[in-house]
Amino acid sequence: LHQGTRQAQPKPSKIGPIPELQVMVNIDTPADLQEALTVAAEGIGLYRTETEVLMKGRLLTETEQEARYTEVVKTMAGRPVYIRLLDLGADKAAPWLRLPPEENPALGCRGARLLLSHPEILREQARALARASIHGPIHVIYPMVTDRDQFHQLHALFNSALTDLPSESLLHGIMFEVPSAYLQAGQLFQEIDFGCIGTNDLVQYLFAADRTNDNTGYDALLSHPVLWELIQELAKAAQAAAKPLSLCGELGGNAHFTQKIIAAGIQAVSANPKQVFAVRQAARRVTLNKSKGPSNKQGDNAEERKKAP
Ligand code: PEP
Ligand code: MG
Repeated sequence: LHQGTRQAQPKPSKIGPIPELQVMVNIDTPADLQEALTVAAEGIGLYRTETEVLMKGRLLTETEQEARYTEVVKTMAGRPVYIRLLDLGADKAAPWLRLPPEENPALGCRGARLLLSHPEILREQARALARASIHGPIHVIYPMVTDRDQFHQLHALFNSALTDLPSESLLHGIMFEVPSAYLQAGQLFQEIDFGCIGTNDLVQYLFAADRTNDNTGYDALLSHPVLWELIQELAKAAQAAAKPLSLCGELGGNAHFTQKIIAAGIQAVSANPKQVFAVRQAARRVTLNKSKGPSNKQGDNAEERKKAP
């Protein structure tokens, strides 16, 4: 190879944490932790505990669960860890649970409802989480919660399993993914320690558009103003109650929406590790635009005036 024709290799540019947006990652099992560390994740924003259960076709024992959660907490060494209670049913079907057949599983016994109807599943997971929380705080996410009463029931069930186990390092919050929870956000934020937005199910239930059906125009709905109004209102409610709020659905990892997410008042997202770089890059553009300050704004206006007829 001639020296003169050699192309300069682009250096892999790393964008680390940025002030505008905390970027955490989603994991399915502790095996995903290495990738989370590689991208310098600022926390585990969503550990979907049901994924391994669905892959294995059985529930994990309490001891197995404790080992998984402990590994995550220890590996993240003080960075926030959000672990979701088993979110089973509908698109996360577990036929081996032998639930009665349903006409419409998306509106049936799933998420919070399934946990309430199978208290022993919730109790085992609660005990495993409590034992793991000895090694560091755990944010426990309750899935598909519809209102404050349902959160109370789940929370009481969770606590009833702990008796002699420590609970001081457990924080309790809900995934905001059913529209009714948005309408009760003010009351819910009085009770919960934090909130997570689940845009995948939120879009499905808000617009009656099946998330697994390509013919519902689901992707286009991600830009619908009604969705963004809801997100903005929830961010305000979280802020008024001084409770953390993060956005965890696929939208959180879609860099096309990062600036919109920040503009809506969201300060934390959880993305898949492969999306972290692009999300940080997009968020960094918000920082840069801000730092250009008012003189830049004037420039923009001048440009606009030039374009005007
Ligand atoms: C969601 O619904 O947006 C979410 C984060 O959870 P899942 O995709 O697992 O339902
Ligand atoms: Mg969901």
